[in-house]
Amino acid sequence: MKFLVRVRAIGLLCIGGGYPMPTVDIPFSKRIMNIGGNLVYNPYIPGSSFKGALRSAASRISNSYGFKSCGEVRPELIESFHEALGGTCDVCKLFGYPKAGTPSPLIVNDLEPSNGSLKRTFTMTRIRLKDETLKVEEGALFKSEHVEPNTEFSGFINVLTDDQNLLGLLCLSLAELRLDRIGRRSAIDLKLEKTEELEKLLKGSKWLTLVEDLKRWLWE
Ligand SMILES: [Zn+2]
Repeated sequence: MKFLVRVRAIGLLCIGGGYPMPTVDIPFSKRIMNIGGNLVYNPYIPGSSFKGALRSAASRISNSYGFKSCGEVRPELIESFHEALGGTCDVCKLFGYPKAGTPSPLIVNDLEPSNGSLKRTFTMTRIRLKDETLKVEEGALFKSEHVEPNTEFSGFINVLTDDQNLLGLLCLSLAELRLDRIGRRSAIDLKLEKTEELEKLLKGSKWLTLVEDLKRWLWE
């Protein structure tokens, strides 16, 4: 089963991970694409970055919605946390974890620039803040690369499970991501399309109303 996710930059989106650039500290993820016969570097959102952000969102909301989460990312500790929980936690069941016997049922494709068009980027000089205190670090100016507000990307999420519980957790994580930050403290909006199969699998569950909500932009 799969559905399409459209992502829109609300503010100045930066998803780090691009090729090294001498003039930018945090380049936006880019790769060479053929646009109108020209090979150009174009920004995109790697599926792994999007999946990572979704996983963080899932970890944050899982407990309040009655899901089990080990809240652990260190591979050597995950097993013992799961033992204490009496089994693999819901977040790891959905997103996978190192040394898991079965791979994650969630395959997130790269999110490509909408319409396959060239997306402009620009660099900004920013001030590095200490994470906990939000105080300025001394001498900490850095340059990051961003796409313009309203730039859109889209890609498919493939789901190899029909477990309503896990599908519910996935929908909750997508909803949470709209209220959260991704990449370098960037805000996004997202909406789902081509959700017919997802809705069929969620028939009769309380998650259907959430899918309805996810089919619309939040920040319009
Ligand atoms: Zn876990």
